[in-house]
Amino acid sequence: MKRIGFIGTGVMGISIVRHLLNNDYTVNVFNRTKAKADEVVKEGAVWQNSPKDVTNASDIVFTMVGYPSDVEEVYYGSEGIFKAEIKDKLLIDLTTSTPSLAEQISDTANEKGARSLDAPVSGGDLGARKGTLTVMAGGDLDAFNQAQESVSLFSSEFTLHGPAGSGQHTKMANQIMVAGTMTGMTELLVYAEKAGLDLEKVVKTVNGGAAQNWSLANYAPRVLKEDYSPGFFVKHFLKDLSIALDEAELMGIDLPATKKAHELYDKLSDKGFEDDGTQALIKLWWENV
Ligand code: NAP
Repeated sequence: MKRIGFIGTGVMGISIVRHLLNNDYTVNVFNRTKAKADEVVKEGAVWQNSPKDVTNASDIVFTMVGYPSDVEEVYYGSEGIFKAEIKDKLLIDLTTSTPSLAEQISDTANEKGARSLDAPVSGGDLGARKGTLTVMAGGDLDAFNQAQESVSLFSSEFTLHGPAGSGQHTKMANQIMVAGTMTGMTELLVYAEKAGLDLEKVVKTVNGGAAQNWSLANYAPRVLKEDYSPGFFVKHFLKDLSIALDEAELMGIDLPATKKAHELYDKLSDKGFEDDGTQALIKLWWENV
């Protein structure tokens, strides 16, 4: 039986671990805050004391932590993945992180006789729960083929976009689009409410026409229920928009609409809503929700 490692049992990780457990894999887990892994440990996952221990006990190791700095710690820290025996192992980072860090991890893994993929995901907490995530990979074809079996257990779309870093670049393209759909959805609600319309009716109608999109379908209903729980954290979206804008600058392109979305989410974060879900953007207009 394949031994899988999973580091980072947060909103997304916990659901992915469940899909792996349901398919009879041995799943070794580690999370910075141990309590967040308790549920899946009760369900059959095996707790390990560090990323290094997870890696020593596994053939394939997934990471899904918060920020690039967390990825660095998990891979390069004193108890990190690269302190373990990794020859012939496959390392897959599902975190949304920087293309340059993905390239660095790939180089280190190759030097040590291992393979790696950057494989950020899209589809939100619901996609993770349903096992229907879209996974965008960067790395070599052998690593991609080797990852198919386990990644298919929690995804409905898994595509290789090119060498290391290409998965993260694809995810940045994805987030540039999401910046537009989130600000569009929010302004749609602000406008429709002021015009005295029935918001549920408007969302249903608009989502059947040319303005149809994932943010409207999945986040507008949460706003209407005043459910601002994450979902997808405001603080993580800000991180993604910063990476996208940094990469755009490196490539010499200007993305004014993405800059505006960053500015709005930055304002939301400054108001203390960084741990809300991204649908909380409406709070910039609806002060008392
Ligand atoms: P999350 O709930 O904050 O999960 C991240 C987990 O990683 C937390 O449990 C955290 O532990 C753990 N972690 C952080 N640093 C660690 C370290 N050094 N060692 C061990 N564990 C560490 O966030 P999430 O929503 O699952 O998102 C995870 C990643 O996926 C982010 O990069 C996010 O941008 C991306 N993403 C999220 C979604 C979404 O809809 N949620 C969708 C697509 C992509 P603590 O409990 O100690 O903080």
